[in-house]
Amino acid sequence: MAVEDDDSTIEEPREGTEFESEEAAKTFYDDYSRSLGFVMRVMSCRRSERDGRILARRFGCNKEGRCVSVRGKSGSVRKPRQSTREGCKAMIHVKYDRSGKWVVTKFVKEHNHPLVVEPRQARQSLDEKDKRIHELTIELRNEKRLCAAYKEQLDAFAKIVEEYSNRMSRKVESVVENLKEFEYVEVELLHSKQDDILSQL
Ligand SMILES: [Zn+2]
Repeated sequence: MAVEDDDSTIEEPREGTEFESEEAAKTFYDDYSRSLGFVMRVMSCRRSERDGRILARRFGCNKEGRCVSVRGKSGSVRKPRQSTREGCKAMIHVKYDRSGKWVVTKFVKEHNHPLVVEPRQARQSLDEKDKRIHELTIELRNEKRLCAAYKEQLDAFAKIVEEYSNRMSRKVESVVENLKEFEYVEVELLHSKQDDILSQL
């Protein structure tokens, strides 16, 4: 029975569970470890003596193994340091099968230490936050692009307005000039009329 990798709760591995590849088995155990609250550790593998191909692989818990005490320079045995390793035996063993699949041949469920369960909900909401941040970043980038486009249009518009107002002011100037001239003519006319009247008196 093959395990589907989907969003539903992760199934517990069983002896006989099949995977399409070693990588698929690793991904599965990684997801399983996260959902349970431990950190997966890729462990030993067995290779073919003929061509070096990996034939079997163990995935375990990172609290597997014990800190081996090291002999100091003086020859005395150092006290083993406080280690994150607690000799946890939890693991799965997957083996390449003649059918071309990778099959779980051994599953050790029990951990000898407390598991730190990361609530799935919290993880999901984190994922959602990441997604939202990503969306907002894209939105912001688009806004910036839009802003730049608007600024370009505004600049172009401002240039048109400036040109137009220059042209307008030139026109106004010429109108004012014309008016002045007209005024002058009017005054001249008035003067000549006054002169006429005066001469007739
Ligand atoms: Zn463990």
